[in-house]
Amino acid sequence: MQYDTDNIFAKILRNEIPCNRVYEDDFALAFHDIAPQAPVHVLVIPKGEYISFDDFSSTAPAEEIAGFYRAVQKVAIQLGLREGGYRVLTNIGAHAHQVVMHYHLHLFAGCDLGSMVKKGLN
Ligand code: AMP
Repeated sequence: MQYDTDNIFAKILRNEIPCNRVYEDDFALAFHDIAPQAPVHVLVIPKGEYISFDDFSSTAPAEEIAGFYRAVQKVAIQLGLREGGYRVLTNIGAHAHQVVMHYHLHLFAGCDLGSMVKKGLN
């Protein structure tokens, strides 16, 4: 699969559509999810063109990988999530229901987040 430069997060990175920004540095942009599924639901995306965790992990330069994950942790600190805890999740491909084909991590927090995956799958 080729990276689609018209995906919604690419447009956010190019400032073609707005987002509710939380954090930005050279490697990452974090913003509130438009349809939050927890009291805190923030997305963190790399600045580079990567389709998924799979693509990012195998093709991004080490500096970008380190910069991105450090940014995720800074977002958690900035939002004060460390004390209560938080969940980091990424969807990859069809079974995981990945909708936007630009790599992103979901940060969920602000309540008891319950079990990790849909009940009854095992
Ligand atoms: P995923 O299923 O992991 O690809 O999740 C994509 C996420 O992007 C969903 O939680 C959407 O609510 C969120 N989303 C889609 N469009 C926007 C947008 N313009 N601004 C913020 N979040 C968005």
